[in-house]
Amino acid sequence: MKYIISFLVIILLSVINSYAVYSPLKTENPRITSSFGEFRSDHFHNGIDIGGNLLEIYPIDSGELIYYFDEVDDPTRRVYGVGNVAVIEHTNQTRSYYYHTEKNSLNKKVKSVTTNDIIALTGNSGRSGGAHLHLTVEDMSQNKVINPLYTVPAFKDDRPPMIWGIYLRTEPALIHIREGMSIRYSGEIKIFVKANDFTGNIPLGLKNVKIYMNDKLMREYDFEELIIKDNVYYVKPEYTFEEVYGVDSHFYRGGVFSPSRGQQYKFTAEITDFGGHTVTLTRRVNFS
Ligand SMILES: [Zn+2]
Repeated sequence: MKYIISFLVIILLSVINSYAVYSPLKTENPRITSSFGEFRSDHFHNGIDIGGNLLEIYPIDSGELIYYFDEVDDPTRRVYGVGNVAVIEHTNQTRSYYYHTEKNSLNKKVKSVTTNDIIALTGNSGRSGGAHLHLTVEDMSQNKVINPLYTVPAFKDDRPPMIWGIYLRTEPALIHIREGMSIRYSGEIKIFVKANDFTGNIPLGLKNVKIYMNDKLMREYDFEELIIKDNVYYVKPEYTFEEVYGVDSHFYRGGVFSPSRGQQYKFTAEITDFGGHTVTLTRRVNFS
């Protein structure tokens, strides 16, 4: 029995670590400027952004360079969106994508790459508001993109996340609720939680968000991966972008309810970041 358990533990550990790869930038403390699954006006951010200009980019694992675009090769083509790009396919049916690279920095000579080969330099090509690397990791066997913060162990997260408030959307108001406040309203109400993680002072997305009403779990979002079905991205368990976010960036939807008069309602938000910090906030509201 003891052997079976340790065998199972070994299998479990190897499954968890199966995506463990290397940091694409060999800098001491890579600065994450945008995280996975974040709000992008009408879609989820499908990778992470790492800030820095003209930094050497290395593949997160060995593989084959299967696609690249460098504007110097085709000056007639407009550079937009992802900008100059390299795509590397790895043995375990995963692909890694490196966007916004510096013009004329792509290393096109090497077909097979190892984690010691420089692919390109970070830049500001395409739709980009400052020099950075955008990294996306795709698992083709399961039609999903994986959160690189899980796969790249180098990223540290020392600062806990923050809950700015629990909000109730009545028609037409968005109410930031204070503890014990009274609201006179009888129609349908939408619950929102505004929360985010940080690196330094830059607001980032979260790993996990749970929103409860009267201790009942209304919504849970887990940003470990985004599942792709018919070109639509879903966050776990199965929510589209519009079902997760509302109002503005970092506002997570907590479901809908119609309050009963004379009742007290309790709302709780529980959020977790990639460093494993969990923060909760509870607010009670009386409806009359
Ligand atoms: Zn990005």
